[in-house]
Amino acid sequence: MTSTRTNEGSEPDVLDVVGVGFGPSNLALAIAIEEHNATCDPNERIHARFVERQDRFAWHPGMLLDGATMQIAFPKDLVTFRNPASTYSFFSYLFDKGRLVDFVNHQTFFPSRHEFNDYLQWAAGRVDADVRYGVEVTGITGAGSADGTVDEFTVQVSDGEVLRTRNVVVGAGLRERLPEWATPSPRCFHNHRFLFHLEKLPELRHQRFVVLGAGQSAAEVVQYLHRNFPEAEVHSVFSRYGYSPADDSPYANRIFDPATVDEFHGTTPEERERLLSMHKGTNYSVVDIELINELYTIEYQEIVRGRRRLFMRKASDIAKVVDGPDGIEVSVRSNLDGLTDILTCDAMVLATGFTPTPLREILGDLAPAGDVVTEVERDYRLPTAPNVRAGIYLQGGTEKTHGLTASLLSNVAVRAGEILGSIVVRRSARDDVGRVEASTGVDSTSNEFATSEA
Ligand SMILES: Cc1cc2nc3c(=O)[nH]c(=O)nc-3n(C[C@H](O)[C@H](O)[C@H](O)COP(=O)(O)OP(=O)(O)OC[C@H]3O[C@@H](n4cnc5c(N)ncnc54)[C@H](O)[C@@H]3O)c2cc1C
Repeated sequence: MTSTRTNEGSEPDVLDVVGVGFGPSNLALAIAIEEHNATCDPNERIHARFVERQDRFAWHPGMLLDGATMQIAFPKDLVTFRNPASTYSFFSYLFDKGRLVDFVNHQTFFPSRHEFNDYLQWAAGRVDADVRYGVEVTGITGAGSADGTVDEFTVQVSDGEVLRTRNVVVGAGLRERLPEWATPSPRCFHNHRFLFHLEKLPELRHQRFVVLGAGQSAAEVVQYLHRNFPEAEVHSVFSRYGYSPADDSPYANRIFDPATVDEFHGTTPEERERLLSMHKGTNYSVVDIELINELYTIEYQEIVRGRRRLFMRKASDIAKVVDGPDGIEVSVRSNLDGLTDILTCDAMVLATGFTPTPLREILGDLAPAGDVVTEVERDYRLPTAPNVRAGIYLQGGTEKTHGLTASLLSNVAVRAGEILGSIVVRRSARDDVGRVEASTGVDSTSNEFATSEA
């Protein structure tokens, strides 16, 4: 199904922005554009279109588990750190829904993921943005003048439409990471679409699940299965000795501050690597301490009562998997004693993390060599050849250059404002060049404006 929301007014032949994906990152950009257009000179309006694969706005719908909460404080919403007076804040949403007072009485910074998804959908439904849902971007190529200058891109959309734009903003999110040995099936699947797989699971014959991984998602899935399948055993398999808590203490949390991006981008690649590795525990393979404590309490109570359903299989790997129509046989090998247990299960959930969406799939030859993003300008623009004046901006996939917020919500508001600022400044610079060329007849593609930074 394809559906569209459009902004008012006639659209130019060449857009200023095509956004690939319409998750929170490009939604934040759409809001920043709407707010810019509301106050700028009419000829400085930014014309944007967004292309989203899903049929409607949805934020990781396969993991909207009852009781799961946000991992960031709600003021890190789509706008507040960029424009605290915006009408798109989480507080505005609560006010609109008549829940502001109740929420404040709740005394939490961490709403449920259900509520935050509802907030994001509310914002996506209100924003004056041209969004094509149910179609995807299948390729992007450079286009421009006969002298080789690339002033625009052509963007291919899966329904055959071709868009012309001066800038592309890639906000395509993350891709599921599966172990090399895994063959996805109805009984063996990544947690990202967990609820959808669960819906389709055949009748439970074995009343047993295996969950592989030791991060937040793994622990949430373990808790969900244990809670919702009261007869089933749940085996949490991981290579660590135990779940480790996420470090969200105030000083460590500064790694997610908007200003940290300046420091991080400004330092050496070696120092960035050092900091990323040192502060991995703020985000990767870690679990909220409350959830760790809840799971521990469950396990302990089961030990007391003598009826075990929750099993922590520490320092263990998956040695073999035999997937069949009636169940999946999972061999779990302990690295401590070398012994292997064979568990016949109804399903194995692979909570094995994510990687950034490969840029080559979207950008083709415009993607960096080997699809490894090691250099990105401070304004999130991919460095391009001097003849390319059109811009490719990345929302995500910039962890090595801009820090740990790259794939998170923490900085979406400020990042969207910075990208928009760069697009606006570079457009005025280009317009100035165009005006000089028109009045003097001089070709200025090689002057400073052609490669100037915002
Ligand atoms: C279960 C879960 C919980 C999380 N919780 C938190 C949290 O509490 N706090 C936090 O900071 N981060 C969290 N994250 C991290 C997450 O990456 C961010 O919350 C957020 O989703 C990033 O937004 P995004 O728009 O960059 O990417 P996404 O939300 O992934 O959106 C990208 C969109 O692009 C679309 N798309 C991809 N390719 C194409 C294409 N070629 N054409 C068209 N559309 C395309 C996708 O369909 C998708 O809708 C969580 C992640 C998961 C999986």
